[in-house]
Amino acid sequence: MSKPKNYKLFIDGAWVESLSGETFASDNPARPKQILGTFQKGCKEDVEKAVEAAEAAFPKWSETPAPKRGLILSRAAQLLRENKEQLSSEMTMEMGKVIQESRGDVQEAMDITEYMAGEGRRLLGFTTPSELRKKLCLTTRMPIGVCGLITPWNFPMAIPTWKIMTALICGNTVLFKPSSDTPLCATRLVEILEKAGLPKGVLNMVTGSGDDVGMTIVRHEKVGAISFTGHKDTGASILKEAGLKRVGLEMGGKNGIIVMDDADLNLALEGVIWGGYGTTGQRCTAASRVIVHEKIKDKFERMLIDRIGKLKLGDGLKPQTDVGPLVNKAAQEKSAKYVEIGKNEGAKLLIGGEIPAMEGFFFEPTLFTDCTKEMRIAQEEIFGPVVSLISIRNLDEATDAINSVEYGLSSAIYTKDIGRACEAITRIKAGLTYVNSSTIGSEVHLPFGGVKHTGMGTREGGIEGINEFSEIKTVYIDYSGKLQRAQIDIE
Ligand code: NAD
Repeated sequence: MSKPKNYKLFIDGAWVESLSGETFASDNPARPKQILGTFQKGCKEDVEKAVEAAEAAFPKWSETPAPKRGLILSRAAQLLRENKEQLSSEMTMEMGKVIQESRGDVQEAMDITEYMAGEGRRLLGFTTPSELRKKLCLTTRMPIGVCGLITPWNFPMAIPTWKIMTALICGNTVLFKPSSDTPLCATRLVEILEKAGLPKGVLNMVTGSGDDVGMTIVRHEKVGAISFTGHKDTGASILKEAGLKRVGLEMGGKNGIIVMDDADLNLALEGVIWGGYGTTGQRCTAASRVIVHEKIKDKFERMLIDRIGKLKLGDGLKPQTDVGPLVNKAAQEKSAKYVEIGKNEGAKLLIGGEIPAMEGFFFEPTLFTDCTKEMRIAQEEIFGPVVSLISIRNLDEATDAINSVEYGLSSAIYTKDIGRACEAITRIKAGLTYVNSSTIGSEVHLPFGGVKHTGMGTREGGIEGINEFSEIKTVYIDYSGKLQRAQIDIE
């Protein structure tokens, strides 16, 4: 076997080794012996250099007309399109998701890049009348400065792209710190932006550990904003350490699907399978709780057991695979631990629950029933293919159960009754509610994010993403030729 390639950091337009002199490997979770490459273990000094480069590049980039910035993003979108197949297979090898989901991830990266390229010709502010004569009032957008972008592994192209393209089109410069589980996907994205013609220093990437590289970025005085997606505990420590900079946090979820007694059960079945076991349950929007009406519980359980039993585990590159591996050994052990917790709590295991006897970090698609909403398996984010069924008697109990967790990212209800659907939309405390569709499948021109311990009020995607990465300036232009005092000269 040939020696794996050694990939570098990207600082000030050049690919360089870390000053730490250390590297780490990225492997294939379906065959952990396959090393995809070695990557630089970045250190504080690397971050320092990257921030310096981003700061130096800021004046020119922020003054580049936004439509011109958009042209570079258009070229990046084109390169993503041309390389979609290769990028998707590498993604499947690096994090395990099945190939059509990897294609979806790259497609999402293309979509947001195209959307943000178009924003180069909008970046809209607004105008509004003044309370005084001969005075114009309007708003315009300003970039923030150097943005530190810290991303997870589960959407290794889409999530970095949401952040990077939005930050760039707004005129910011970027220091990107990807997850150490998916540094190859991150490197490919940076290579694409380099090829698209991004000037040096505008985008920098430092790979390495969260505690070291991540925290140095978070604490750095010259970083004006942090945008983070990842675990709630990491987000909480970032918030503590970031000081007075702008912080956007997108964190975990414990999303639920309500299946009412009038639901189209075949449709709901597809939604639960896709939401619960798609990406091996490793989506922030994964449906890890199914809140099912007692009248249809037994029937729906039988339908689920039958369908889950047919799901094929395997290497995500094989077309017959339905469910790939978990991202690493720790994730596999976490799912196994929660199965034990569930059994000890008195939940009934209907199917799955084991680490299968195969190479790789696989875990059987697992379904518990007779769960109460208070059980740990129904409260905590497992981030694996483990789903809990909770039975309810009416819509009040259903919305009470769905809201009983600390998170508030995604949610869904299956019902044919429009009144019930609207009640649910109003009552559910979550950033996203789907009606007669699963908890996953966001589109890039709509806002994405959560409430409660999932988010901090920011949203990504569409115009809300632009809001995260730009400052609003209010402008008053008085052409009356005299002093006009607001709130005083009101006659
Ligand atoms: P994680 O929090 O472990 O890591 C995310 C990133 O933070 C990585 O780059 C990591 O290196 C870095 N990091 C870790 N410790 C740090 C520290 N002390 N300071 C600064 N950076 C640090 O999360 P993960 O395991 O990569 O991702 C899974 C989590 O992400 C799940 O909780 C999932 O729900 C969440 N997620 C949320 C969304 C969303 O939009 N709400 C989307 C995807 C994933």
